[in-house]
Amino acid sequence: MISIVRVPATRSARDTLEPIQQLLEQIDYRPSSRKVFIKPNMVDATSPLEAVDTDPALVGGLVLALKERGADEFAIGDGTGYFNEEKNWLRLVEESGYKAMADDLEKNHGIGLTIVNLETAPREGFPWKFGSIKLPSLCRTHAYINFAKMKTHVHTQVTLACKNQKGLLSLADKKAFHLGKKYSDLHENIKALASAVRPELAIVDATRALEGSGPTTAPAGQTKVRRLKLCLGGPDMVEVDNAACQLMGIPVDSVRHLNRVPVAVARGSEPLQPIVPPFVRPNPEIMATDNFFVHMSETCCTGCQMSRSRMFRKISFVPDINQLFARFRYQHGRVDFVMGSTSDDAIEAIKGRGGTLVFYGNCTKAAADKFGGIHVPGCPPDHNVAIDVLLGKAG
Ligand code: SF4
Repeated sequence: MISIVRVPATRSARDTLEPIQQLLEQIDYRPSSRKVFIKPNMVDATSPLEAVDTDPALVGGLVLALKERGADEFAIGDGTGYFNEEKNWLRLVEESGYKAMADDLEKNHGIGLTIVNLETAPREGFPWKFGSIKLPSLCRTHAYINFAKMKTHVHTQVTLACKNQKGLLSLADKKAFHLGKKYSDLHENIKALASAVRPELAIVDATRALEGSGPTTAPAGQTKVRRLKLCLGGPDMVEVDNAACQLMGIPVDSVRHLNRVPVAVARGSEPLQPIVPPFVRPNPEIMATDNFFVHMSETCCTGCQMSRSRMFRKISFVPDINQLFARFRYQHGRVDFVMGSTSDDAIEAIKGRGGTLVFYGNCTKAAADKFGGIHVPGCPPDHNVAIDVLLGKAG
């Protein structure tokens, strides 16, 4: 059973309380414990307007609604794959609006909450298809709620509640999920994880959703924000994701980590009708900027994805660097950026387009040695170092 509610405004937790209350009432949800762990998608240090992270105002509204339903201890956490060091994590918490939301709850509602960097949180083994996997103990000690963002994704078509669970993994397992050697491929791994740990409530923030070549902002109109002003949720994460795909106009069968299941809509819910026009699907070849193409195989994990995104953002917004970059582009013409371990055949095909090859991250070192070109080291590369390596070549 799912419910879809309209969320007219997301300026503060108070704005979102009523729609979240409606959602919880319609699916008749009460937390199983007074201690609640909410896992939003907190992947980048960006404003909620960019539709990359779960909007903190919604998470704040959920905390207020849960407090009315008997909860009194709240932990909110994610493991980003890039902002792992404590100082970087704190920057993300600040710039994404989560700190301001927590301050608002404390000051105006008397509710204290803990914001947890899952990379350093205690973990324990959970049985799953491939043996045992280390996940945050919070999933057992607290009522676990998955609060995802509605986005398209170049590797998985969509990132919703099931995919959001990747943030529960240790950094090593995040990489292993993508590399596809230790367990299975990325899609099977996400599916198996959905059986290993199940939230008792899954919500998808579709107030502002991201379409195109997500899951982070891509330039030149390759991602766009869709202002849907909706939230949907229910106790079955797979059913919620099926409903979200229907809203997005993306066939469930094209999402390899998701099984098709029937969706029942709660009484009082907004109707489950595909949004018109449907969401723009992701293009695996992202144009980072004119004549600069990114080829990101599905073995490329969040670390390099975020690092690349932040590198281009810095290049775009810092005038001195932008000038150096213009010179680099003038000297090189077309540039093809290879990310994640990529087959020789695929690299040959990319090379055939005649551009300068840039190999990004330690996963591409062997290919860089074999095919030549510029190699940016790191796992993931620090985006500032990446800029130095890249523009150092401009001479
Ligand atoms: S080099 Fe990049 S893609 Fe490869 S494991 Fe490291 S962070 Fe992931």
